[in-house]
Amino acid sequence: MQKLLNENIKEVYSAHFKYKPVANCAWIINRYCNYACSYCWPTSHTNKKDFLTEDQYLVAVDKIISEFYKNNFKIINWGMMGGEVTFNPHYLTILDEIQSYVTEEKIMATNLVTNLSHLPKWWEKFIKSTEKFKKVKVNGSLHIEYVNNDDKLNAFREKLFLLNSNNVEAVANFVMLPGKMDYSKKLIDFFNKKNIFVLIKGCRANNKFVEGYTEEELKFLNASSNYQITNRSNQKIIGVKEFNGTQHWFTSVEELISKNGMSYKDFYCTAGMQGIVITETGEVLRGRSCNSQKLGNIKTGFSLFNEVKKCGEKSNCHCAGDVKMPKWRDNGNSMLKVG
Ligand code: SF4
Ligand code: SF4
Repeated sequence: MQKLLNENIKEVYSAHFKYKPVANCAWIINRYCNYACSYCWPTSHTNKKDFLTEDQYLVAVDKIISEFYKNNFKIINWGMMGGEVTFNPHYLTILDEIQSYVTEEKIMATNLVTNLSHLPKWWEKFIKSTEKFKKVKVNGSLHIEYVNNDDKLNAFREKLFLLNSNNVEAVANFVMLPGKMDYSKKLIDFFNKKNIFVLIKGCRANNKFVEGYTEEELKFLNASSNYQITNRSNQKIIGVKEFNGTQHWFTSVEELISKNGMSYKDFYCTAGMQGIVITETGEVLRGRSCNSQKLGNIKTGFSLFNEVKKCGEKSNCHCAGDVKMPKWRDNGNSMLKVG
């Protein structure tokens, strides 16, 4: 296949967000985390309990839902991130509140990034609080500084297996540091034995892989899904269209970012109308990569865009949730099918 050049890209999209009336709320609920991984950005975790009040979260849930419904999005995906979200004392109440909106037409989905450190009993409560969601996805991040022996690794896999056995799509995430390719391949085998997919990610700083990866390791990072035997392999997750009509597919956003990371300045982008990001302090942003575009705060009020706007960011759109929002140039907004 010919190399895909950024200047030839006309459109980038997740098929899920392009063809269905799905909105995305990416919510960093808290930065509190019970772990302190050595490679975690200092700003990404804290040992201080930085939770908002239950009322603030619940009022926010109601407002977010009504804003997305105003924009004709009947399906809302809630992407919950931390810190460690599952240690927020209001997290299950938030899920229960979201669940209370579910009807035949009004659909909820959620995905959670977690270190999976709660016991299976807690995960049973989670399964209950999400049972009316149409789709529940859990990304269990494997931190081997804490999951540091076979028993803990087995327990980690068992929790993913429990979730997978209860209609949750649970996968393992592993950040592969330079020199860890053989270990990553062993992990893939270990998890694949229970039909669990492993998303292998490269370690990044300033939107680029950190120094130290060999050519072979970079190749592996770009194609790690090809090594897997689970049914997630070779899925068409992110579509890219060139001006000449050529269609490309990527199996993960990470793969697209590593091969064709770019700025989408002057592309139309549905972020802000179809997707928002909320920070732990309650700020509502258009996206993480365009965090200067603030839409308000859940504590004091916010409003979403009610139309698609152009991207003004010169730097790369580097966050998976941001990249998934449909974006295109030179043909207006007629491609967005909602309602
Ligand atoms: S579990 Fe995640 S959020 Fe917590 S310290 Fe480790 S990398 Fe950071
Ligand atoms: S930076 Fe923001 S506006 Fe620009 S493409 Fe990314 S999500 Fe869209």
